Amino acid sequence: MASLISTLARFVIGGPPDIICPVDVWDKGMAELARRSNRQRESGAFLLGTKKKVRRIHEFVFYDDVDPDALSTGIVVIDGRRLGWLWEHCRRTGLEVVADVHVHPRGFGQSRSDQANPVIAEVGHKAIIIPDFATGSTSPGGIGVYEYLGARRWRDDSRLQHSPLHIGWWPTWR
Ligand SMILES: [Zn+2]
Repeated sequence: MASLISTLARFVIGGPPDIICPVDVWDKGMAELARRSNRQRESGAFLLGTKKKVRRIHEFVFYDDVDPDALSTGIVVIDGRRLGWLWEHCRRTGLEVVADVHVHPRGFGQSRSDQANPVIAEVGHKAIIIPDFATGSTSPGGIGVYEYLGARRWRDDSRLQHSPLHIGWWPTWR
């Protein structure tokens, strides 16, 4: 119900979000990130979905499922040679990487390395950072939401009143 109310409030007051994710997909994804972090290391996922007027997240593909060693140093490092499976999965499902998400031990600011190494170096790509190993706030307003502007520059949308990220239902005709 809270989700419906926030959708309606936004619908009346704010413009459409840039990216949406159904509550069940988001909550399951957050629980998995917390489990895989185990309060000890960063974890993360590619967020697969569709890009139309609004980007829609359908699926989390966790970094350590793509590369079993991705989390072993404490920060996320993915061996590029492992990415073939991901592109094949995208081709098979018709989905594409619409954003990425990873957890930090405490806050949700971007590190230098986050800024220097966009997961997808494409203008408009969204990077989401969840604080406290995903054991605390996991909702817009309490998480990092960044948009890639190109040339290693980002826009920080984390504290916008109407976050570009909307968790919940959104009418398909808008
Ligand atoms: Zn980071």
